[in-house]
Amino acid sequence: MIVFGLLLAALGSVPAQIPVLKRSDVVFMSQASRQRYEEYGATVLAWGGKPTAQSLAEAKGLKFFGSVGMVTEFSRYYERFPQTYEQGLCRDIQGQPYKVPWLTDHQHKGIPFWWCCTRQPLFRQYISERVIETVKAGADGVHIDDHLGTAGGMGNGGCFCDRCVDEFHGYLKSLPQDERVRLGIQDPESLNFLAVLRDWLAQQPGRKIQAHPLWSQWRIYQLRGAARFMTELRALAAQTAGHPVPMSANAGLLWGPHLNDYQTLDYFSAEIDHHAPQRHFNDNPLVAYRLADAVGRPLASTASGQDWAFIKEKNLPGLVQGWIALSYAAGHGLMAPNRQWCYTPEKGTHWYEGPKEKFAPLYQFVRQNAAIFDNYQNHADITVAFSQRTFDRNAGKIIGICGKLSAANISYRLALGGDEVVDHPLSVEAMPQTVPLLVVEPTDFTPEDQRLLAALKPQKRYDSVEQAVTNVAPAVRIETPVTVRILPRVKPGSAVIHLVNWNYDDARDGVETVKNAKVKLNLQALGVAGATEARFYSPGSQPVTLPIEQAAVTVPELGLWAVLELRGQ
Ligand SMILES: [Zn+2]
Repeated sequence: MIVFGLLLAALGSVPAQIPVLKRSDVVFMSQASRQRYEEYGATVLAWGGKPTAQSLAEAKGLKFFGSVGMVTEFSRYYERFPQTYEQGLCRDIQGQPYKVPWLTDHQHKGIPFWWCCTRQPLFRQYISERVIETVKAGADGVHIDDHLGTAGGMGNGGCFCDRCVDEFHGYLKSLPQDERVRLGIQDPESLNFLAVLRDWLAQQPGRKIQAHPLWSQWRIYQLRGAARFMTELRALAAQTAGHPVPMSANAGLLWGPHLNDYQTLDYFSAEIDHHAPQRHFNDNPLVAYRLADAVGRPLASTASGQDWAFIKEKNLPGLVQGWIALSYAAGHGLMAPNRQWCYTPEKGTHWYEGPKEKFAPLYQFVRQNAAIFDNYQNHADITVAFSQRTFDRNAGKIIGICGKLSAANISYRLALGGDEVVDHPLSVEAMPQTVPLLVVEPTDFTPEDQRLLAALKPQKRYDSVEQAVTNVAPAVRIETPVTVRILPRVKPGSAVIHLVNWNYDDARDGVETVKNAKVKLNLQALGVAGATEARFYSPGSQPVTLPIEQAAVTVPELGLWAVLELRGQ
């Protein structure tokens, strides 16, 4: 552990974020042809593999992120260390290697795709070499897939290899004395967690390891270890290039503790569940976009493998069009669905080639109107403050609250308090006094965050989302009785109001056009007092100017998505 400590000291503190994405960027997930990039107006390649002369030439002008996979590259790892690869495998509580659950249909030379341990020196060497070769091959940035490494497999039991068990000593020693006493640890050095667990399980059949009193510490230890490895990889990339190299990761923000390493990342490029099988647009991805806002990083999203499998099977690209609209309306972006990984347990890995005539025009709309995307921030009608501890224990609670706000067209901002895994203290700036505040599960916050919350004097404080929905007056309302999601964004002297038609019908795989929707505006709250007209932008149409009368605009026709641009006097 001393060596580790010295290394961390040498790396210094966590580097500052590099601004790598603009709101109007069009991000491709995987490599494509020059022609395809141009059809979509691509500006960034997020999971570009190891660059080659050809892929760099085709992606000329794009920011090229090469990708390295911590869980998906077993065959490559095996080929690097064919004699000794077993040293790097994760081990379950019986000491056996285990497979990657979503790659059970994969084998290499007859060997299953084993999960490899990011604490094992041999596997760390492999990943480090991959980062170095990716940077040397000319990538502008590095994307890490399955960035939790070993810690990503803890839901299935996690890794009990010799390294994972050994290094736990150092973690336990670092705990405050009173915490160790509380946990009943007399001598951290002699504690063999694997042996302890085995004994404990043997005492009473049917026990789950996750119920052991030390499990939560073990989990924190693994997640922190994962974050530290990411910091080391970032430093390695910078050292290789001779300058800071931006990093992204497939951080599934709605799936538990994926924010563990956010400080090391410049943006997220991640799979987010879009719940395609429900056959309607879903508000959950907005929670991911707002979480990304909360930690100050852009999110280039994609749907999950199951979502894409459903879209492919049922041929519903119209559902995807709604995902694209929502993502940009939220100030982020769904990666162009040119070629998507699909997964079901029955079919395993397969691919979806998106119809470009359905998708590319939406991305071109963004590129051609970059000025109504870049530099705007979410305008929040309410701030929802919660602790990572609450989110970790019950993400559904937070997602449910946000869903109710979305359904009421109340635009929300999230203020995230940290925990032992996510180092993110609440800040006063994240909870402006002029905006009503809803605090969820106040006792879950750290003592420092609780003190800060107690000292705040927000304009209004709500204890429940029901109270908030009843009382908050959003800056933008729609008077026509139709289902439209309203997402206002602001910058000094200007506001853009995104209107996303939420009335998706799977029978027609599209939305029903809304006519003459009356949009009521609180111009003062939006920072555009005195505005008398709005520019109306919609994909496939020329912008038109609409009058603002009695603080309202009538939108003649709303297809899937439109933007009203307002300027103050
Ligand atoms: Zn391990």
